[in-house]
Amino acid sequence: MSVESELPDSRKGEELVESSITEIAATTRGRSDRLEIPESVRPIRIDQHQLIVIGLVHVLAFLAFIPWFYSFTGVVMGVASIFLFALMGINIGYHRLLTHRGFSCPKWLEHTLALLGLCMLQGSPARWVAIHRLHHKHADKQPDPHTPSVSAFWGHVGWVFLRNREFYEVGNFEVYARDLLRDPFYARLEREFLWFWIYFLHAVLWLVGGCTIGWCRTGTFAGSIQLGCSLLVWAVFVRTVFVWHSTWAVNSISHLWGYRNYKTTDNSRNNWFVNLLAHGEGWHNNHHAEQVSASHGHLWYEFDLSWWVIRGLECVGLAKNVVRPRCWTAPDSAQQSAPPLP
Ligand SMILES: [Zn+2]
Ligand SMILES: [Zn+2]
Repeated sequence: MSVESELPDSRKGEELVESSITEIAATTRGRSDRLEIPESVRPIRIDQHQLIVIGLVHVLAFLAFIPWFYSFTGVVMGVASIFLFALMGINIGYHRLLTHRGFSCPKWLEHTLALLGLCMLQGSPARWVAIHRLHHKHADKQPDPHTPSVSAFWGHVGWVFLRNREFYEVGNFEVYARDLLRDPFYARLEREFLWFWIYFLHAVLWLVGGCTIGWCRTGTFAGSIQLGCSLLVWAVFVRTVFVWHSTWAVNSISHLWGYRNYKTTDNSRNNWFVNLLAHGEGWHNNHHAEQVSASHGHLWYEFDLSWWVIRGLECVGLAKNVVRPRCWTAPDSAQQSAPPLP
């Protein structure tokens, strides 16, 4: 009897998922230089909540291909909402403020930025911060939760669908996000999926707002419903999917392709394409080299829109203690070509 046939059915499923991941790793990176998936992911278990929610929102985003859901207002709102929720909520709120404390601001503004981040359905602030700090601490080594050194697929989205004990043990949150959980506002968001219901509520508000505008414009029930659904699809579902992949591209593409200004101990890269998608987050090698800096662009041509928004907040007195890079010019290592991938 083969070893495989002795495995229970559940274990066979785990083996199947794991072999799929490692197969992709072998074809994308070469079998000898890849990392194994983190130990905290074993035994392999699908995160069903993540799978269902992320799958469902992707399906709903595809409604954008049906002409009935199109409206000029919906598309404009979809683009504008990327700047509001992704740039302000994720880049500035979750990442540069809550994770790295690259600047300080009044509590009401910090909480507002966190609420905007919640509307991107990337998890609660404490969870997001804990995962990201874990990534920085062990970047491209074990137990980095989403290194593409396992495989490009794993680094982009594979890690999202498997249950990682590091993400669910309260003790880990206390290690990596203790400062956040001391604030009752963030602690409350951990209870009863409150962060998810806030996303749900904001989606309903987009629907109701669109229906109201549609009614004012057309005075008909059909026109009202059409615009409401259009805003829901474009400004919520399409935007959510677009920003998911932009954020995941920072984890995957910016650890695989691009140039390096700094000889960091990880594979982080500066990637202009990711930077276009993620408004400044693509200068990821700069960020790994100086994690607290509120600006990720260090050279004159490394445009970082998120940084200029922080500068604007600083100019009007809403951002203080803004951390700048140690130098705004290329370090000596800038001229060196990037080392080969491990
Ligand atoms: Zn990174
Ligand atoms: Zn970071």
